[in-house]
Parts: sequence; structure tokens; C-alpha cells
Amino acid sequence: MNKYAVIGNPVDHSLSPTIHAQFAKQIGLSMSYKKILAPLDGFSVAAKNFISSGALGFNITVPFKVEAYDLIDEYTLNAKTAGAVNTIKVENGTLYGENTDGIGLVNDLCNNLQQSIKGKDILILGAGGATQGILLPLLECQPERILVANRTKTKSLKLANNFSEYGKVCGFGLDQIKAKPVDIIINATSASLDGKMPEIAPGVAAGALCYDLMYGKQTPFMQWARENSALAVTDGLGMLVEQAASAFAFWHGKTPETKEVLKSLRETTD
Ligand code: NDP
Repeated sequence: MNKYAVIGNPVDHSLSPTIHAQFAKQIGLSMSYKKILAPLDGFSVAAKNFISSGALGFNITVPFKVEAYDLIDEYTLNAKTAGAVNTIKVENGTLYGENTDGIGLVNDLCNNLQQSIKGKDILILGAGGATQGILLPLLECQPERILVANRTKTKSLKLANNFSEYGKVCGFGLDQIKAKPVDIIINATSASLDGKMPEIAPGVAAGALCYDLMYGKQTPFMQWARENSALAVTDGLGMLVEQAASAFAFWHGKTPETKEVLKSLRETTD
């Protein structure tokens, strides 16, 4: 049996096994895909044990994406620039690392939500692992500029500096974001996980597409966006399915159909 998994902590909530089972069914592939809960200080041991058991690949979720980077022998450009890995392929003892988060977000925005990124002003809230993963694929779509605003300003300044060779990207503290509207706001903080809202000026949401990377429930950010005249509001379920599709293609060389999978998840999670 072809062995795959997602490793995280927590991992119980993960929809990845359901998504990959549906993709595998589309191409008649027989595979197992399980959830592995690794202790917070035990990612590397859990990953190595799974590899020793004959695994062909695995996804990595919160909080291990940066740690996973250190296991890799060969990186894609996405993984290299992100400094974080969410997909590992094992082939003849070599570990190949990819980061599909950004491709997943771009595919959701452009294909599922029919949004164009080219020429747009984008505000990203947060400067953690998810932001590291989405910056390059977003910049490759040639937005007018990307503002990265983070609670800890030094992190957004550093990220903006690291990615400046790929496009116009500027770092700020959250408190520096004034009420000037932008086209797209992406909440890439983990505040929604704690039921909190990053503190930014409400006026900035007016007329913007407001996208929370969190999925599975209405978040304070989504509520805030609706109350402050956002053009449209969405969660990150589409990104989840699209990043999984890219991971599936990385492993199996075939890109699965995503629309029906997203529709069925939407029906069960809403
Ligand atoms: P990290 O832990 O790496 O980063 C967390 C970020 O959130 C930091 O920038 C942190 O700021 C900020 N933050 C946390 N709490 C608050 C708060 N109360 N107010 C303001 N800022 C806050 O997390 P990730 O980047 O890995 O993940 C972020 C989110 O994206 C998670 O909800 C995750 O589930 C989601 N995600 C969704 C995906 C999808 O497919 N839909 C894929 C990947 C991630 P500071 O630096 O100051 O601590």
C-alpha cells in the first residue's frame, strides 16, 4: 500500500485524509493517508519513523513546517524561498520538499473566486509560516504591491526584505495600518484559532475582498470584514483543497479536480 500522512500538533481536526482519499479515488489510486500527532518536541522522530516504515510522502502542518525544512535534501523554489515545507516526497531515500500553501491560495483566488491579483494592492496580516509560504506565489502574479503587517514589526520588516527581489513588498507593524482601503486583505495570523481579531483600523476593509486563511467556521476577522463594508468575505477552505491538490500532483504527477471536493467539504463544514 502507498503510505502517506499528515503530521502536526494538533492534527485531529485535519481534513487532509478526506481530501486525499477523494483525489485518489478520481484516478483509481490505492493509497493510505493517516493523521500522525507528533509531540511538540518530537516532529523529527515522528517523521523519520514514518519514513522508515516505507512512507512515500507526507504533509506537514502547524507548527512543524519550518522544522520540516531542515529534513530536506532537495527543495523547490517555493520551499526554498518560504523557508518552510508543507509537502515531502520520499524517493530512493531522497527527501524532496515543496511548499504548496501559496499555490493553493493563488488557485483559490484566481480559479474558484475568479479574482485577478495583477495590479492589486494586497494587505497581509501576520508574518508567520503561512505568510512565508504565500508571498512568492502572490508576487509572481504581479500585484501592484503587498503590505505585510505584523504584531511583531521586526518579523514583517525581515520578510519584506527577504522577498523584495520578487516584487514590491513592504513591512509594517499592525498599528501602522491606517484606514486607507486596499483591494485584498488576507488574514494570515493565527488569531482566529484563539477566537481573536488582529487589531487594525476598520476603514481598511471597505471595498476589499477579505480572506481568512482559517477555515471551518466564521471567524472574528470575517465578522469584522462584514461589519466594515468588505466587498466579499471568505475563509481558507478553498486554499486547503487547492494546496492539497498541488501536493497530490507533487507526489503522483497528476493534478486532481478540486471543485466537487470543495463543494462536498463546504456542505459538511458549514
Ligand atoms: P504562525 O504561528 O507561524 O504565525 C502566527 C502569526 O499570527 C504571527 O505573525 C503572529 O504574530 C500572528 N498572531 C497570532 N495571534 C495574533 C493576535 N492575537 N493578533 C495579531 N497577530 C497575531 O502560524 P501560521 O503562519 O503557520 O498559520 C497562520 C494561520 O493560517 C493559521 O490559522 C493556520 O491554520 C492558517 N493556514 C491555513 C492554510 C489553509 O490551507 N487554509 C494553510 C496554512 C495556514 P507575532 O509574530 O507577533 O507573534
